[in-house]
Amino acid sequence: MDMVVRAPRRPAKGETLLGTEFGLFIGGKGNNQAIAAARAGGQVTMIGRVGADPFGDALLASLAREGIDARYVLRDTAHGTGVALIVVDAEGDNSIIVVPQANRALTTEDVERAAEAIAACEVLLLQLEIPLEVAAHAARVAKDAGRTVILNPAPAQPVPAALLAAADILVPNEGEAAALAGLQPCGLEGARLAARALRAAQPTLQAVIVTLGAEGALAVSSTGEVHVPPYRVKAVDTTAAGDAFCGALAVALGRGEPLIDAVRYGNAAGALAVTVAGAEPSLPRAEAVERLRAGGSWLDR
Ligand code: ADP
Repeated sequence: MDMVVRAPRRPAKGETLLGTEFGLFIGGKGNNQAIAAARAGGQVTMIGRVGADPFGDALLASLAREGIDARYVLRDTAHGTGVALIVVDAEGDNSIIVVPQANRALTTEDVERAAEAIAACEVLLLQLEIPLEVAAHAARVAKDAGRTVILNPAPAQPVPAALLAAADILVPNEGEAAALAGLQPCGLEGARLAARALRAAQPTLQAVIVTLGAEGALAVSSTGEVHVPPYRVKAVDTTAAGDAFCGALAVALGRGEPLIDAVRYGNAAGALAVTVAGAEPSLPRAEAVERLRAGGSWLDR
């Protein structure tokens, strides 16, 4: 659950400031990507934990509204729902503290209980807001069942070898790609170097797709390197662009589309997401994503 405060600036140590706005918003990378995939046309099952508290109620109600199977989203009675405290200043820049709470309590046993569901899906889409060994276990379960594993290595942090080894497709943004490759982020060329280095270090990766914000995305795979250009839109708020991209990409790959077509689908979803404020409200529906990919206007969303 995202708790967003608007204030003229960040408080200094020991200072109390008056803010101007407060809002509670459904969030979290796993949740956002599950919603993104459902809206992009996927049949989605979510695995995770929320607290036995009102935030958990709200998240589960939201998953139900989206038609997402949440039977493997456990209510944790010992930990509250994961929260992010977000301060947005007068310039629109944010500072965020994430407290994982129940997310951190997800276990490999929880994943085991969902093993049948993982094996029944075309694609497992993972992020790094759960314990890394649990993510690695889920990836292994999917891989052993012959499923495609897509890893969005966000928020940026070192990824254990076992998790990378079980991933088929890695989808970092520019900063995450550079951090993982031990390089400095610097545009398309930097992304190219990082993606090559990541594939060289982990040859089992079928593809590394680096999202480049307003520059679209770069796909590096055994068939070559393709810069897939962005869709031109009026950007209002870039929150959840990456989540929209990942959810839509997973859906397109799950239905057997070629990699570059799937990246275009992700680009269209990401572009639409930046035209609307917020995370969950900005995640686009399949019709709008298809229309934009087919050459239509983003204004028709
Ligand atoms: P993240 O939110 O993880 O940092 P990006 O900023 O790279 O991810 O955005 C994800 C995708 O969303 C991009 O690859 C691109 O397709 C799309 N996107 C993001 N910002 C824009 C923009 N200003 N114009 C058009 N597309 C955008």
